[in-house]
Amino acid sequence: MDCIFCKIANGEIPSTTLYEDDDVRVIFDINPTSAGHALILPKAHAASLLEYPAEKLGHVFEIAQKIGQAMEKGLGADGVNILANCREAAGQTVDHFHVHIIPRYASQPDKDALVIETHEIVKPDFDALAKAIQENL
Ligand code: AMP
Ligand code: ZN
Repeated sequence: MDCIFCKIANGEIPSTTLYEDDDVRVIFDINPTSAGHALILPKAHAASLLEYPAEKLGHVFEIAQKIGQAMEKGLGADGVNILANCREAAGQTVDHFHVHIIPRYASQPDKDALVIETHEIVKPDFDALAKAIQENL
């Protein structure tokens, strides 16, 4: 399969590797939104988190926690955003599951360009929403 993250994760394309084990490789994002912005790439292809085997997800997030902790200690980050975009509608641009680990720097704007904007929608029908989700669990 012609997937760039498969090639990077499996070492066919060389990368600066922050961490590697049998299941994942952690690299720097090529277009970082903050200093140290990293990506966890599973070595097994899955289109997004929604397709990744549930029993292997825990390991991916253990590594996310480990890297986030190391960013606070080693980079002096004040916080970390950990996120996985699933599908184009959610901003996914590479269709191989990956987790962003984005260190945040409260008072160093030169190191941190991430802007997360939120706008409230009209109050939804929470009961109907809950029913629609719960029926599909
Ligand atoms: P997403 O929008 O969640 O799919 O994120 C994809 C991320 O992968 C973006 O932040 C890109 O900057 C990053 N990216 C794309 N190609 C590469 C690459 N060859 N090496 C490292 N990061 C990449
Ligand atoms: Zn892949």
